[in-house]
Amino acid sequence: MSHIQDVITKVKEKDPAQPEFHQAVEEVLASLEPTVERHPEFVEAKIYERIVEPDRVLMFRVPWEDDEGQVHVNRGFRVQFNNAIGPYKGGLRFHPSVNLGIIKFLGFEQIFKNSLTTLPMGGGKGGSDFDPKGKSDREVMRFCYAFMRELYRHIGPDVDVPAGDIGVGGREIGYLYGIYKKIRNEHTGVLTGKGREYGGSLIRPEATGYGAVYFAAEMLATRDMTAEGKAAIVSGSGNVSQYTTEKLLDLGAKPITLSDSSGVIVDKAGIDREKLAYVLELKNVRRGRIKEYAAEYDVPYYPDVSVWDVVRTEGLQAELAFPSATQNEIDAENAQALVDNGCIAVSEGANMPSTLDAINIYQENGLLYGPAKAANAGGVSTSGLEMSQNSLRLSWTREEVDQRLHGIMKSIHKASLEAAEAYGEPGDYLLGANIAGFLKVAKAMLAYGVI
Ligand code: NDP
Repeated sequence: MSHIQDVITKVKEKDPAQPEFHQAVEEVLASLEPTVERHPEFVEAKIYERIVEPDRVLMFRVPWEDDEGQVHVNRGFRVQFNNAIGPYKGGLRFHPSVNLGIIKFLGFEQIFKNSLTTLPMGGGKGGSDFDPKGKSDREVMRFCYAFMRELYRHIGPDVDVPAGDIGVGGREIGYLYGIYKKIRNEHTGVLTGKGREYGGSLIRPEATGYGAVYFAAEMLATRDMTAEGKAAIVSGSGNVSQYTTEKLLDLGAKPITLSDSSGVIVDKAGIDREKLAYVLELKNVRRGRIKEYAAEYDVPYYPDVSVWDVVRTEGLQAELAFPSATQNEIDAENAQALVDNGCIAVSEGANMPSTLDAINIYQENGLLYGPAKAANAGGVSTSGLEMSQNSLRLSWTREEVDQRLHGIMKSIHKASLEAAEAYGEPGDYLLGANIAGFLKVAKAMLAYGVI
């Protein structure tokens, strides 16, 4: 058994109930095989064994009261995975599916993603099994306060800087930051994704979606193509999906789908700016369901399925795909359906949205495949830019931040391609992104000795 396979086996044996974490470890470590031969010093120092073990796992009780005075108890998590190259950095996810394995997978991915951004950020992730859906603003506020009443003692602007993720947007960050400020009596860059009025950065809300489209445009350019005129499948209808759709429109592409956990809309005429404005109001202000779009614009709605199921069952033709909802949304069967229906590029806005078998299908069929840790790194990159602005105590213009974001996405694309080339797999963005992200962290860990 190879050294890498041995590490993967031990991870599975140690934490058998964490399938998403196993999947993430397998995806990253398998592509690090070529580094073993070139860097015997990593093997000797047990870097591979060390990098799969979090620096620290925090798990805590979050009791809160609903509007009727009933007490509820949720579980809170923060996994501080690796701070070799900077303070822990990664979002908070509030969703009923959250458990330790999911937070560990996200935190592990975050190490390599953050390394790729060129900014000094380590990897971490957190969240809770709290479900914000159907809760009043006051209930969400009370939950956020209760969550931060424990988390505040473990984070800080030079220690660990959380941000948003699924179920944690501007509203939640406001409550979390408010109570942190109250407890600590300090106004500091301890969270990113903050409102503009209290230290947030322009373009942060847009950054993940914009970045995923910038990355797709870079991939297309390697084949002398652009996004213009191309149909695009987008899943989800949250933060990442909304701004992926907006940037696709900027580049002249035609987004034709959106979804939520209840169902899918298909708008073959294209989701234009007016319809997108409707979606933003529907999702961010009224917190409604995507089904309402179908009634508003008289387009088909498919309940209880994913966008990728609809691609398969309806033979939906599109050249571009932007999975932007959640992990493992595309399996092998639906990946094959994408190929059969003319897809040429997949740029992952969500984290780990494709199963390992789906990725194999993209690669066997020569698709341009932008893996999450490269394609969706625009969000954390702009969080990094928010931290820089907080430290400098000034704020950059929209154009300035967007330009930096665009520049970072280009350099992530370049670094991934160059590492793939250097390690003998030209065009393999997955291998390239994993190796480029890993090398920086591994070298820093080596420099510190045995820590
Ligand atoms: P939001 O909560 O804003 O939106 C999530 C969207 O995905 C919603 O439409 C939601 O539907 C849908 N969704 C969530 N879970 C499921 C599920 N199990 N099945 C079907 N649909 C689901 O989250 P974001 O847009 O911020 O995050 C989306 C993805 O992007 C996640 O994988 C996240 O980790 C990743 N990401 C986000 C970043 C960011 O900056 N926000 C940065 C990098 C990655 P519903 O409302 O019905 O739950």
